[in-house]
Amino acid sequence: MATLKEITDLIESPSKADLELISKAFSFSEEAHSNNKRLSGEPYFIHASETAKILAEYGMGASTISSGLLHDVIEDTPVTSEELGKEFGEEILFLVEGVTKLGKLKYHGTDRHNESMRKLFVAMSQDIRILMIKLADRLHNIRTLSYVPKEKQTRIAGETLEIFAPIAYRLGIRKLSRELEDLSFPFVYPKEYDDLKKIVKRQHEDSVENLEKFLKSIKKALAKNSAPYIRTEYRVKGIYSLYKKLKAKKKNIEEVHDMLALRVIVPTIADCYTALGVMHGVWRPLPGKIKDYIAFPKPNGYQALHTTIFTGDGSVVEIQIKTEEMYQHSEYGIASHISYKGVGKKNKRLESLDWIKQLMPNTKSKDSSTKDQARDVPHWIKDLASHHMAISQEGMLNEEIKKDFFNHRIFVFSPIGDVVDLPIESTPVDFAYAIHSDIGNHIAGAKVNNKMVSLDTILKNGDIVEVINRVGSKPNIKWLEYVKTSIAKRSIRSAIQKLKKEDTK
Ligand code: MN
Repeated sequence: MATLKEITDLIESPSKADLELISKAFSFSEEAHSNNKRLSGEPYFIHASETAKILAEYGMGASTISSGLLHDVIEDTPVTSEELGKEFGEEILFLVEGVTKLGKLKYHGTDRHNESMRKLFVAMSQDIRILMIKLADRLHNIRTLSYVPKEKQTRIAGETLEIFAPIAYRLGIRKLSRELEDLSFPFVYPKEYDDLKKIVKRQHEDSVENLEKFLKSIKKALAKNSAPYIRTEYRVKGIYSLYKKLKAKKKNIEEVHDMLALRVIVPTIADCYTALGVMHGVWRPLPGKIKDYIAFPKPNGYQALHTTIFTGDGSVVEIQIKTEEMYQHSEYGIASHISYKGVGKKNKRLESLDWIKQLMPNTKSKDSSTKDQARDVPHWIKDLASHHMAISQEGMLNEEIKKDFFNHRIFVFSPIGDVVDLPIESTPVDFAYAIHSDIGNHIAGAKVNNKMVSLDTILKNGDIVEVINRVGSKPNIKWLEYVKTSIAKRSIRSAIQKLKKEDTK
């Protein structure tokens, strides 16, 4: 179990009020969970405290850490929302309820819906802090997954691999995404994991020794050219990320050049280019592998200089050169902006990442009273959509997602929890045709959230829609007046034409 001190020690200069809040949440949660046990037989509170500790490690603030401590209190203990609100106030209630709500979304393991599920998770989070709590919660659950019954393991690990790890990656929190992936991988693909593990182990032992030697040569070269640097290190590619790369590119492990990457951390941006010059002066670079992500950051904000060089002993190695701040950002992503009190005063990248500000909780306008449907989806999602959603996991695929995606789409559920995304102002008829043209053609009625509604009812985000089919039902030309999707329009027209032909026969 993480102790209170272990959690608070991770916070950079906390205020007295911060410490009091966290300490209060700590005792409250411990007391509330005192009768709960985890499947491992350990007290449930361990999970709450570890979740909070992860949040502290990622530099989250006192409210988020406290909400991490309290995140399962409404769901798993007799404590009610009212009590929690009274005890801790609106903000923490909002965060805890947000996490509880996200917990109700279930992943059904159908690839078709994975992308929608990811979007839905993000859309429903409303606030980056809720997403962070959910990710920390999931990380601790995955760390302790071996205690969970077998069938459940596969579902949870699959959901982590397909939904949560990609979300963490898109938020640029690579460290978290890597750990989620590598811990889930063996549960989802046990055989593939075992096979790959063996190969990697063999490769790894050989190369690490060489690498350490090579790191020394790099330091020597830098020193000789009076190029300033802070430190060097190497990172091993995550095993799941390697698995994906081998699968996607149909490569052999020998062809993967970034299995191990060397990092050179330098003081300033100018030093990055100096270090690159030194490298290229001493070792020959592989053509086409020199990437300037400082001048041209990746869409998720990643910055560094990459080059792959011939080490001279027959092998090649990727070198990443970056400043400390770029390093922080590449590992902790958005979390680093919430917490990292960077050294740079005026940083170009920070300016270009203005969108992150919109991810930040807006405490002033938390009212949900607006009737404007487009605003059901928080404003920041729009920016997240334009900067993040268009990047696939590998950053290679370019999905055609419009800038204002979330302002024009809603997400609704089938009664078994499948997610369908539709344009705003869509109706049950659009929903039916989105599932199957036969279902659309025979729609006789619809229930939304268990209540009968007319077919022209405008659906809202999160509605559960049930289509009632009847064998004799036929498409009605009037539907064309209100359907929004082109698939519905097309299907209705063609069905009506077919009916006309049959009539004139
Ligand atoms: Mn939990």
